[in-house]
Amino acid sequence: MTGCGGGDTTGGESAGGDAPAFEVAKDVALTGSPTFDAIKSSGKIRIGVKEDQPGLGYLDAATGERTGFDIQIATWMAASLGVAADKIEFKAIPSANRETALANGDVDLYVGTYSINDKRKKLVDFAGPYFITGQGLLVAKDNTTITSEKDLDGKKVCSATGSTPFQNIKENFPKADPISFDIYSKCVEALTSGTVDTVTTDQAILLGFASQNPDKLKVVGEPFTVEKYGVGMKLGDTALRTFLNKTLTDGGATWTKIYDATLGLSGTKVEQPAVDQY
Ligand code: GLU
Repeated sequence: MTGCGGGDTTGGESAGGDAPAFEVAKDVALTGSPTFDAIKSSGKIRIGVKEDQPGLGYLDAATGERTGFDIQIATWMAASLGVAADKIEFKAIPSANRETALANGDVDLYVGTYSINDKRKKLVDFAGPYFITGQGLLVAKDNTTITSEKDLDGKKVCSATGSTPFQNIKENFPKADPISFDIYSKCVEALTSGTVDTVTTDQAILLGFASQNPDKLKVVGEPFTVEKYGVGMKLGDTALRTFLNKTLTDGGATWTKIYDATLGLSGTKVEQPAVDQY
């Protein structure tokens, strides 16, 4: 197939306007990874993401542009594996379906506010962590009754099915009234329409929703769990996990560039967390 003239694309068109460009690795040596073998033979990578979480993983339906910290991390991981941005196939996968999507091979990687924990480590492998946040609360701007997680008794608390924050509410807040949807934007809609009292998930996610609608929404209280985000992959692909952990460990400058271009725009400054070679 010659003469299609498509060799000189700008790349990164799906990864966001002012996003940093990543050097695409050449001649990547990675043996013993079935996922990488599949990526190599297909010439593309399929990455599961979120697309309703502003600042982290967001799809602008009008322009088709994906933006956010997680989208950038995903694009960086792909580049380190030798795959250019225009060869990434992003797939929106909600919290409850991540383990199945990875186990079934529907996606090669998952990069979407995915907390590393022992229960999930039995089902998938994680590189990382690449970010640390904690569970928080989003309420209506004029709400004065919920100021922290101590105020949830009798309150309608919305979160995503299959998420760690939802599990935490069900297990440790027996007097709260838990409500779940597949994705967080539905909880935020329920909050703005007044059918729930609060939305709970990672504070990093909630801050993105609040900054989209600062006249109506605010984040309250301090983070009350620790959520460490990992890059999910098929269980047992240790070669790939080791490789991506090295990308993260060696790529401090790239991490900072990504952070500064996305979450860091809010003015908050954080350090890249140390990788956990479990
Ligand atoms: N980080 C949490 C989790 O992995 C909440 C965010 C999400 O649902 O993606 O469950």
